[in-house]
Amino acid sequence: MDELALRARQSDAADPLAALRARFVLDGTVYLDGNSLGALPAAVPGRMEDVVRRQWGELRIRSWDESGWWTAPERVGDRIAPLVGAAPGQIVVGDSTSVNVFKAVVAAVRMARAADDGRDEILVDATTFPTDGYIAGSAARMTGCTLVPVTPDQVPQALSGRTAAVLLNHVDYRTGRLHDLPGLTAAVHAAGAYAVWDLCHSAGALPVGLDGHGVDLAVGCTYKYLNGGPGSPAFLYVRRDLQDRFDSPLPGWNSHAEPFGMRSAYEPAGGALRGRVGTPDILSLLALEAALEVWDGVPVEAVRAKSLALTDFFLECVAARVPAGRVESLTPAAHAERGSQVALRCADAGEVMKRLIEAGVVGDFRHPDVLRFGFTPLYVGFADVDRAARVLARTLA
Ligand SMILES: *Cc1c(COP(=O)(O)O)cnc(C)c1O
Repeated sequence: MDELALRARQSDAADPLAALRARFVLDGTVYLDGNSLGALPAAVPGRMEDVVRRQWGELRIRSWDESGWWTAPERVGDRIAPLVGAAPGQIVVGDSTSVNVFKAVVAAVRMARAADDGRDEILVDATTFPTDGYIAGSAARMTGCTLVPVTPDQVPQALSGRTAAVLLNHVDYRTGRLHDLPGLTAAVHAAGAYAVWDLCHSAGALPVGLDGHGVDLAVGCTYKYLNGGPGSPAFLYVRRDLQDRFDSPLPGWNSHAEPFGMRSAYEPAGGALRGRVGTPDILSLLALEAALEVWDGVPVEAVRAKSLALTDFFLECVAARVPAGRVESLTPAAHAERGSQVALRCADAGEVMKRLIEAGVVGDFRHPDVLRFGFTPLYVGFADVDRAARVLARTLA
């Protein structure tokens, strides 16, 4: 056993989160794709058996009340809240991230316009996951705004008295770069605009501090670092003091003040549930609720500490084991700029990833030349990291 392998073993032995791995369904593969689809928490299948057979099969319609189905969007939101630094009552779970981006951006423009109707620009992170740009573009057309594509670094200069809303990614899905949420949010506010953050690659991976940094609106996935399962519903955060002004572009009956009043006039409910639209996706929502139980008693700060140790160690193992010049890290070396993934630029990345997967190391390929490895501290250990680097080195040799 060489020095790196020995250190991996020592780090695993000293890891305060090591026991959590047993709460997931895993096999002998090294799973470094939890930033695309989190692994299955072991409690989920049993819970789904109960939800389907008893709650749906036996209680049927009664479950909307008796099994807590109706209030699940807010209840599950409150379970996510501490992971992103939000007090209860500000997060609702439902719909996809794409749909929640739409609600948040349009609502942000409406809030900005209510104070100053000359605001007619939406800034969007042009390096972003494409859906965010597509949706922001449509939101701009619908609200009569101009879409201004920028990189996050350009936001401070691009802000002006015309800016209504700014949609930014906390962590870049491709490079793993962590953007300066506190600084950029403060700059957006100084310009009198509203900040919408996409937390898909930070929720469950690192502390976000939504309340502490005064973020206005935020959205995020639950099937990545929160392990909610394929297509599990996304979350929408609306800061408490903005909730009365949050004017949803999708005012469905679920967000009505009196949904069963079946009134012809819309009157929005108070609080976070103003972000609801239609009937919640109960099966996926309750699978997510069961998945979130693995977080009980797990501070997100501990997850962050392990995540940085894992990505540091991976970069070190790659540098030591992979022939020089074969890969180049796109992920920032500075901790303050790194999410929970490592992106390596590599010739023939698509073919290389195929061979890694065949050899039991699962990451993913992002067009055109990126090998992407996600590190989920709840179930990835240091020996996994060492093994991944060895297999990569062998594949590239
Ligand atoms: C994964 C991801 C999405 C996914 O959106 P869906 O509506 O769930 O398909 C959106 N934005 C970012 C930044 C993502 O990483």
